[in-house]
Amino acid sequence: MSTLDDLPPLRDVIATHDLRAKKSMGQNFLLDLNLTARIARLSGRLEGAQVLEVGPGPGGLTRGLLAEGASRVLAVEKDARCLPALEEIAARYPGQLTVVNGDALQIDVGAHLDGPWRVVANLPYNIGTELLVRWLTPASWPPPWSSLTLMFQKEVAQRITAQPGDKAYGRLAVLSQWRTTAEIVMTLPPEAFSPPPKVHSAVVHLTALPEPRFPADATILERVVAKGFNQRRKMLRAALKGLVPDLEDRLMAAGIAPTERAERVSIEQWCALARVIAD
Ligand code: SAM
Repeated sequence: MSTLDDLPPLRDVIATHDLRAKKSMGQNFLLDLNLTARIARLSGRLEGAQVLEVGPGPGGLTRGLLAEGASRVLAVEKDARCLPALEEIAARYPGQLTVVNGDALQIDVGAHLDGPWRVVANLPYNIGTELLVRWLTPASWPPPWSSLTLMFQKEVAQRITAQPGDKAYGRLAVLSQWRTTAEIVMTLPPEAFSPPPKVHSAVVHLTALPEPRFPADATILERVVAKGFNQRRKMLRAALKGLVPDLEDRLMAAGIAPTERAERVSIEQWCALARVIAD
């Protein structure tokens, strides 16, 4: 039964439009509309909100977003088979849902949404990290989005929210937490999806900070952090070798022992190192 709106239950939508999940498209659908409404609400109050949804599929989360009060949803779906089902939702919410049949990696969101927008998505796992890194590295800060509420496989969610010293702490944690607050707000077992994936999933909510936590040039910081974690078990004097002359002096000037390993360096220290290197 659909309790969210007067549209058919998702199992009927899938049967009517023959939407058998394709692995190549990263398709694991959420069919429980109570759950999709809850995920929609994890992004905050939706009344009047403009939302980018990547990969709406048969539209469970899309319906959650609209039923919870989003004023505009831009839904970008690569699989053309989903379009008729999404058009039915668009007809139920006239003027509120724009469906684009295309690749989320190519979309110009500003051409469709005019106000501040947020992203809410059950991401296809194969492009999830790439999309996140793009949203986290815009040309300037603050970014055009206010928050990201994203479903990932649980291991990726843990990499985003990890702290120094955690096994999962790395480039993704530094990139994410330098300019956002990031927390896991829901975990889901495989059975929540159809078909069930092999892994557990988690929703991460990231809110853009008005300014980075610590000053640093974004390009330099990204380069230093990427190189540091590339050989995460090595001491930094070895892992960062060749990055700059006088590496050990610069590490010490940033308050980091040259024998330290990347996995123990805080975001504040990475930023200090990026500043010393910029000088
Ligand atoms: N939102 C739906 C749900 O929660 O049931 C579907 C989520 S499913 C994990 C991922 C969706 O992303 C699929 O509908 C898939 O077709 C779509 N997709 C895959 N690659 C895409 C891309 N590059 N751009 C846009 N959508 C994509």
